[in-house]
Amino acid sequence: MELWQEMLRQGVDSAKDLIERFGFEEVAARKLNTLFHIRINPYYLSLIRYPGDPIWLQCIPDGQELKDDGLPDDPLAEDSHSPVPSIVHRYPDRVLFLTTSQCSMYCRFCTRKRKVGDSKKIIMKYIQDGISYIAQHPEIRDVILSGGDPLMLTDYLLERILKGLREIPHIEIIRIGTRMPCVLPQRITTKLVKMLKKYHPIYINTHFNHPWECTPEAKRACEMLADAGIPLGNQTVLMKGVNDNPDVMLELMRKLLTMRIRPYYLYQADVTKGTDYFRTPVSKGLEIMDKLRGHTSGLAIPYYVIDAPGGGGKIPLLPQYVIGRAGKNIILRNYKYEIFTYPDLEEEPANHHPPVEKPFMRKNGSKKVTRKEIIEEAL
Ligand SMILES: *Cc1c(COP(=O)(O)O)cnc(C)c1O
Ligand code: SF4
Repeated sequence: MELWQEMLRQGVDSAKDLIERFGFEEVAARKLNTLFHIRINPYYLSLIRYPGDPIWLQCIPDGQELKDDGLPDDPLAEDSHSPVPSIVHRYPDRVLFLTTSQCSMYCRFCTRKRKVGDSKKIIMKYIQDGISYIAQHPEIRDVILSGGDPLMLTDYLLERILKGLREIPHIEIIRIGTRMPCVLPQRITTKLVKMLKKYHPIYINTHFNHPWECTPEAKRACEMLADAGIPLGNQTVLMKGVNDNPDVMLELMRKLLTMRIRPYYLYQADVTKGTDYFRTPVSKGLEIMDKLRGHTSGLAIPYYVIDAPGGGGKIPLLPQYVIGRAGKNIILRNYKYEIFTYPDLEEEPANHHPPVEKPFMRKNGSKKVTRKEIIEEAL
C-alpha cells in the first residue's frame, strides 16, 4: 500500500471520533455522520491551529449542517444534465466525468454532498458508460475528470480511464479536478506524474481556499505536477470565516503563484442544503475582486463566478469599472477610483442590426423577454 493510502486509513472518520476527539455531543455527532460523511486525513488535520479556524471550518462538521434550511441538494441541476450517471453535459463542447464519489477529505461546504462519499454511486459500469457516451459525441473536445476526487482512484484505474479517453480522436484536452495537492499532497507521487505525462495535454485544476493550506508539502506536490508539464489552475470557494477577507485572498492568490498555480475561478458559494452558513453576500466577492485587480499581478486574479442555480453554468461578475457613457465617450474608473475617459468610436450603422444588447431568453431558451419584465418578475 502506498503512503497516501495508509494515511487515508488514519485520521478522523466516524461519529465516535467526533465525540472522543472533538467533544461533540453524541446525538449531534451521529446525525452529522449520517447526513454527510466525515473524513479528515491526518495531514489536513495537522493544519488546524485552533478550534474554529479556517482549516477547521472546512473539515470539522458543524451543527449548522443539520438545520432544515429547505435548500436544494442539487442546486446546479446537474442530475438533469446527466445523460448517463457519470456525465454532466451542460456546455456544448465539454463534459464533467464523475469517476469516483470518494474524496480524501469531505469538505463541509461541498456542493455535491448528495453524491460525494456514497461509494454505491459510482461503479465501473458507470465509468464504461461515460467513456462510451463521450466516444459517441464528437462535439465533446474537453473532458473534466471530477467526482469526488479522481485522484482517489488507483494509478492503474486512472490510467485505464485516461487511455480510454485518449483513444477517442475528438478529445483534445483532458482536465483533472482534484483537491489532493491541497488536502493530501502525498498523493502526488513520482509514479503518478510519470503516468499522467503520457496522456498530454493534461490540465489540473486544484482547490486551495486559504493561505495556511500552502505548505511545503503542497508546494512540492505542485512542483512535481508542473515539472511534468501539467499547467495548474486553482478554484477557490468564497466562504464566511474562511477567506471572506481581501487581505487573506490576496495572500492566497500570491502564494498560489509561487507554487506555480494560476488562479482560475473564485466561486460564490452555491445554495446547497446544509452549507448555508458558509455563504457571503455577493458584495463581499465584488469587494475582494476590487482589491485584487490593479493591486497585484494580473496573473493572481481569478474570475469571480456564480454557478447559476438551476443549471445555467458559470456567470462572471466584475466590480463596476464603467461609470457611464457621455455621448461617444465611455467614462471609466481605475483600481484607485481615478476617472478616465475613453473616446469610443461611433458604431458603424451596419452594426446596429443585430442590436448591441442581445435579447434575453427565459431559462428554457425559447421565449424572448425584456429587461423590465425580468426584474418585475423577480421582485
Ligand atoms: C465548471 C464546469 C465545466 C467547465 O467550465 P469551464 O468554464 O470550461 O472551466 C464544464 N461542465 C460543467 C457542468 C461545469 O460545472
Ligand atoms: S474534495 Fe471537492 S468533491 Fe470532495 S468533498 Fe471536497 S469539495 Fe466536495
